[in-house]
Amino acid sequence: MAIERTFSILKPDATERNLTGAINALIEKAGLRIVAQKRIRMTREQAETFYGVHKARPFFGELVDFMTSGPVVVQVLEGEGAVLKYRDVMGATDPSKAADGTIRKLHAKSIGENSVHGSDAAETAAIEIAQFFSGNEIVG
Ligand code: ATP
Ligand code: MG
Repeated sequence: MAIERTFSILKPDATERNLTGAINALIEKAGLRIVAQKRIRMTREQAETFYGVHKARPFFGELVDFMTSGPVVVQVLEGEGAVLKYRDVMGATDPSKAADGTIRKLHAKSIGENSVHGSDAAETAAIEIAQFFSGNEIVG
């Protein structure tokens, strides 16, 4: 499988509970390399753009409120099959359905406050990375 990149967010429920290091340890243990990382406070505009595909969903307002409620850590992860590998490491969206040992099983509070985001495909990863990082901030 090819080396690829995926986009990750450690969400406000994770930064609030000081879980940045614990989650990064799970990411690195899975063989993914953190090739870019910064802690930011998302603006409403950034969150609305980022989750634009969910605009019509009933939870959209709640999701934007949550993502702007505290600091997040945005990351670029690199590795073999990084997109699917990170989806595996994260676990299911709903933590009650997530497999043992996954980030969401271990740390997520609810389906909304679920600790991490990971891109769902290589094409979306490229778009999401470009929303938050310039090329010279990513060091592989
Ligand atoms: P993400 O895109 O954040 O990696 P995901 O791909 O597992 O998560 P999506 O279906 O893309 O899940 O939903 C995006 C985010 O919207 C979820 O991570 C969660 O924070 C929120 N969300 C999804 N479904 C619900 C719901 N039923 N109620 C509240 N929030 C939800
Ligand atoms: Mg998604």
